[in-house]
Amino acid sequence: AKKMRIDKVLSNIGYGSRTEVNISCKRGLVVVNGEIVKKSSTQVDPENDEILFDGEKINYREFIYLIMNKPAGCVSATTDKWDQTVIDLLDMEHIAFNPFPVGRLDKDTEGLLVITNDGKLSHRLLSPKKHVPKTYFAKINGVVTNEDIEAFKEGVVLDDGYKTLPGELEILKSDDISEINLTIHEGKFHQVKRMFESVDKEVVYLKRIQMGKLELDESLELGEFRELTKEELELLE
Ligand code: URA
Repeated sequence: AKKMRIDKVLSNIGYGSRTEVNISCKRGLVVVNGEIVKKSSTQVDPENDEILFDGEKINYREFIYLIMNKPAGCVSATTDKWDQTVIDLLDMEHIAFNPFPVGRLDKDTEGLLVITNDGKLSHRLLSPKKHVPKTYFAKINGVVTNEDIEAFKEGVVLDDGYKTLPGELEILKSDDISEINLTIHEGKFHQVKRMFESVDKEVVYLKRIQMGKLELDESLELGEFRELTKEELELLE
């Protein structure tokens, strides 16, 4: 198995800078397979050795995978000059992995966001060739009709002339403020809002509820997140 310096292992997963880890080692806080490790250059096998930091077993992994119920008011970016980002909502122990959101939700959009440092997974989920479906729940100003279902099934032409792939529109409530689910197979900028604009209707609330086979965990409060389970991760692969 792959060997790494203990200071690199611990700093990678948020136990301080290399210098801070060095001090922790000198203080006897780092124990590997039952032995105190005082030299921070010691090579360990992070996946198989038992490593304790201040008595607590560490959980080393290269990648993290988080599911968040994104709240409105923050942006899907890692840094932003003005706005709070989804990364700002995480804990230091997760931020230490340098994660980023998989794709973008608008600032005012809520719901399912996967956050990871696994570039390959992100690429697979976002690749235009893969057409990974994304389902949104939306409230629409106006009465959504069967004609809209047909139009979306055909593909609609957006304001920039782009014709969308077929999307599946389901009407949950047809009223002055309608409620719908829409599944799309691509991810153009503001796509759901612009699809409704093309049929002269306005999205007044938008929430992503599914990406590929992964569903939003509705028990997560807005702004809450957790690690994906093994089963959920398999749904994305
Ligand atoms: N479509 C939109 O218009 N906005 C989003 O945030 C996601 C899809």
